[in-house]
Amino acid sequence: MRPLKIELKDISVNYGKIHALKKLNLSINKGDYIGIVGPNGGGKSTMMKTILGLIKPNKGQISYCGTSLKKSEIRMGYVPQISDINRMFPITVEEVVLSGRMTRKIKPFFKYSDEDKLAVEEVLETVGLKKLKNRHINELSGGEFQKMIIARVLTLKPDILLLDEPTAMVDVMSQRQIFSLIKKLSKDITIILVTHHVQMISKNVEKLIYLDRNIIAEGNPNEVYQYAYLRPIHQNIRRKLVGGANV
Ligand code: ADP
Ligand code: MG
Repeated sequence: MRPLKIELKDISVNYGKIHALKKLNLSINKGDYIGIVGPNGGGKSTMMKTILGLIKPNKGQISYCGTSLKKSEIRMGYVPQISDINRMFPITVEEVVLSGRMTRKIKPFFKYSDEDKLAVEEVLETVGLKKLKNRHINELSGGEFQKMIIARVLTLKPDILLLDEPTAMVDVMSQRQIFSLIKKLSKDITIILVTHHVQMISKNVEKLIYLDRNIIAEGNPNEVYQYAYLRPIHQNIRRKLVGGANV
């Protein structure tokens, strides 16, 4: 079994004058399935990109199994917030998923191996897209498209998968399918999932985090949900009652 432990210590990220993350501390352990919720602009995507090493923090350190990302050899898979694959590009589902195998070996006269093709068959089966493998990507529904992007990242057999709002632009039926697919994947892969679908994620994870530049609440999904979403409503109601003429 490959080890996995990622520790963020006092991480701060600024974009000019904007403080996107402020002294964030987080520990990710092997087998975790952590849900991240929070307001727009709360730093969720910034946190993902920082963990992935795509953004260098202004302050703080991240250790990967006690060392740097490169030395740790942790394989990270990333499904970004809005896919930047051009949907009008004339390419099939199978070709997109196969291209996930290419990243490390771009060279002249590159050819996919039988092993690559087998890996693609496997992941298409896992995400339930085998029948659609010859379909052009502009003929996919939003949900099928997301499953294809997840399949693509799975071909590299990541130790940890970071998904940024994978159900944002899909219908309710596909949202359920994607959540159930991720739940299945979470048995073998450590998962960090950012979403606005708080109720659905709460049913799936043991640990939910409410992030607003820092961790505001963390732990049992129901308690975090109550604390982060219901408390402000109650406060608001109370304030209205207190300020209203009938009180
Ligand atoms: P979330 O994903 O929770 O919506 P983000 O991490 O995308 O939040 O953004 C956090 C804050 O940082 C927001 O105020 C956003 O406008 C700002 N921000 C994000 N990316 C950039 C960037 N590349 N340049 C400048 N500001 C950014
Ligand atoms: Mg975001």
